[in-house]
Amino acid sequence: MLKEEPPRLRLAHLPTPLEEMPNLRQRLKGPRLLIKRDDLTGLATGGNKTRKLEYLMADALAQGADTIVTLGAAQSNHVRQTAAAAAKLGLRAVLLLRGEEPPLRTGNLLLDSLLGAEVRWMGPQRQIPPEQIAGVLEELMQAGQKPYLVPYGGSNEVGVLGYIQAMRELLDQLEESGLEADYLVIATSSGGTQVGLTLGAKIYGYAGEIVGISVDLPRGELLSNLVSLAQATASRWEFALSLGRDDFIVYDDYLGEGYGILGPPEAEAIRLLARTEGILLDPVYTGRAMAGLLDLIHKGTFQPEETVIFWHTGGTPALFAYAEELSFRPPRTGR
Ligand SMILES: *Cc1c(COP(=O)(O)O)cnc(C)c1O
Repeated sequence: MLKEEPPRLRLAHLPTPLEEMPNLRQRLKGPRLLIKRDDLTGLATGGNKTRKLEYLMADALAQGADTIVTLGAAQSNHVRQTAAAAAKLGLRAVLLLRGEEPPLRTGNLLLDSLLGAEVRWMGPQRQIPPEQIAGVLEELMQAGQKPYLVPYGGSNEVGVLGYIQAMRELLDQLEESGLEADYLVIATSSGGTQVGLTLGAKIYGYAGEIVGISVDLPRGELLSNLVSLAQATASRWEFALSLGRDDFIVYDDYLGEGYGILGPPEAEAIRLLARTEGILLDPVYTGRAMAGLLDLIHKGTFQPEETVIFWHTGGTPALFAYAEELSFRPPRTGR
C-alpha cells in the first residue's frame, strides 16, 4: 500500500468484532444494523485511539523518545489510551489537560492516575496555547528527557494509518460474512478516524458512504480540518490520491449544547442501546453519534434493505463522570 512501510506496534486486540444489532433494528423498523466494536480494542478499556497509537508509539520509539506528551479534555479517551500505551512500553507519560483539577478523579481521569501518568492542568482555554505546549517540551528536554508529542486525538499523518488499516480489516470481515455495508456511521472530532476510513475506502475499494456525525465543530470548519489532514497524510506517504471537501459526508445537526455536554438525545441513545443490545456507548462521542443515527433512521434516510454499520469508537469510562446527568431522569414510558 505504501512506498515506505511505516513502523507499527501491536497494542490492539484485532480484528474487533463486527456484530448484528437485531433488537435495535426490530425496535426501529429501519435498515439492517451492525456495530463495529472498536470499544473492544483492549487498551485500558479500549477505543479508537488505540489503532492510531500502534503507529504513533512505533514512531516515538523509532525517534528514541522516552517521554510521551499528549493533550486533551479532562475526560479524554485519547489521553487515557495514550497513558496506557506509554505504561505498557515503559515510557513516561505527561498529560496536558484543559481546565483545573476537579474535586474527584473519576472516569478516564481516574484511569490516567492509575496508569501512572503525570497530569498537568492547563487552564480553561478551548485550545491549549501552542507556546504552553512548547514550554513543557522545552522543560522536559532541559531535564534530559526525550519527549514525543502526540497531537489532539492522535490525528496526524501517522495516526491516520490506523484507520486506513481498519478499513482493510472491515472489508475482510464483510467478505468473510458475505455482507455489504451501504453506510458507515462514526462520531468525528479531530478527524483521524474519518480521514483514515475515507483514504482506506479509496485505497481498498469500499463503495458505500462514510457518514461523520460531528461532536464539536461546525461543518465548514470540520471539513477544512478533514481535507488538510487527508492532504498531509497523502503527501507524507506518497499516495497518488487527493481528497477534497466533496469526499466527506458530515452532519453538524447534533451538536446540542456543545462538546461534552450531555443532553436528552444522547441520554436516550445511550439507554436505548444499553437496553436493547446490552452495549454501552459514551456520553461525549458515541452517544451523540448514535443520537444522530437514530434521527436519520426516523427521517427515513435509509432503505429497509440497506445495511448500516455503526462504528463504536469507545469512550465507555467517561460514563462514570456523567453519573449525575444519567442517573436521575425518569425512565421513558413504554419500557
Ligand atoms: C476521539 C474519539 C472520537 C473521534 O475520533 P477522531 O479521530 O478524533 O475524529 C470518537 N469517539 C470516541 C469515543 C473518541 O474518544
